[in-house]
Amino acid sequence: MKKPSNEMKLIFPSLSENESFARIAVGGFISGANPRIDELNDIKTAVSEAVTNCIVHAYRDAVGKIELTARLADGVLYIKIRDRGCGIEDVKKAMEPLFTTLPGEERSGLGFSVMESFMDSVAVRSKPGSGTAVTMTKKLRTKI
Ligand code: ATP
Ligand code: MG
Repeated sequence: MKKPSNEMKLIFPSLSENESFARIAVGGFISGANPRIDELNDIKTAVSEAVTNCIVHAYRDAVGKIELTARLADGVLYIKIRDRGCGIEDVKKAMEPLFTTLPGEERSGLGFSVMESFMDSVAVRSKPGSGTAVTMTKKLRTKI
């Protein structure tokens, strides 16, 4: 029988401590799929980058809701991280390596590049004033 898909959704405020919460939650979610340790670390890092962006950019000095959806179907992990913050004016430019709108605050402009190198696909939908959704997928190789 084909394995049924698994899915979860979390909604949490954009507090800095929730970056590690999101990492651990996604790690726990995929642990049942027996992922390799390197891919587990890659996925957790990609999630950290996307959640950190919601915390530091989307809501900047405010606190807002972050919505994280994860789905595992046919060995493929799908993750969506959504905020209703300030949005991104030019997504193509924002995704360029080293582009940052907070250069003086220890930001290196590499978050999207990290997500793209650690996941199979990264798609960003954003509307200024409405928020941003980052969707990432990765096929798990799993242990033998
Ligand atoms: P780093 O991730 O290396 O600390 P960074 O966050 O600036 O630096 P990226 O994660 O690549 O770099 O993001 C690039 C830019 O895209 C950010 O500087 C910000 O302007 C914009 N951005 C990214 N995510 C969001 C978001 N969720 N809401 C609003 N703006 C965002
Ligand atoms: Mg970033």
